Amino acid sequence: MKTLVLNAGYEPVRVVSWQKAMILLLTEKAELVKAYDRLVRSARTSYSLPQIIKLKRYIKSFALAAGAVTYSRHNVFKRDKFHCQYCNKKLSDKTATIDHIVPKSKGGQDNWDNTVCCCVFCNSRKGNRTPEESQMLLIRTPRRPLLRVALAELLAEFNGDEWEFEEDLKYTGP
Ligand SMILES: [Zn+2]
Repeated sequence: MKTLVLNAGYEPVRVVSWQKAMILLLTEKAELVKAYDRLVRSARTSYSLPQIIKLKRYIKSFALAAGAVTYSRHNVFKRDKFHCQYCNKKLSDKTATIDHIVPKSKGGQDNWDNTVCCCVFCNSRKGNRTPEESQMLLIRTPRRPLLRVALAELLAEFNGDEWEFEEDLKYTGP
């Protein structure tokens, strides 16, 4: 079970284990915003398992770092909301493919700016060509998603399909 930590101004800052969240609550560094429908028991008492907590003091060092979302095939699909970035067709984990905007054979890299979610049809139509050569226009310019976006989504569907985060997102303070 994971807990979402909000800064004192309610901005999502990171995801921690519920154990870490309990420590923040019991040391009164944070307050409970929302609980899971489950209890944790200690020898003397029981507590609601925290789903979302809010820090009491504003922590500046929790700067929302762009780039904390791991680059992966799945996260590219999520960023593009499982829509083909050429024809806007709705895809799934099974039908989505990765298109390299500048093909790998022409020096294109595996990164946020050069890969998009793409349907099989558009991918094979584009083939080994750049968008200029294929005259196929992207619906939007791909960018590295901001953690802010990822966490907002995580907040909305907290128990659902989670983003994959970098290891360095582990809670370190306060
Ligand atoms: Zn398509």
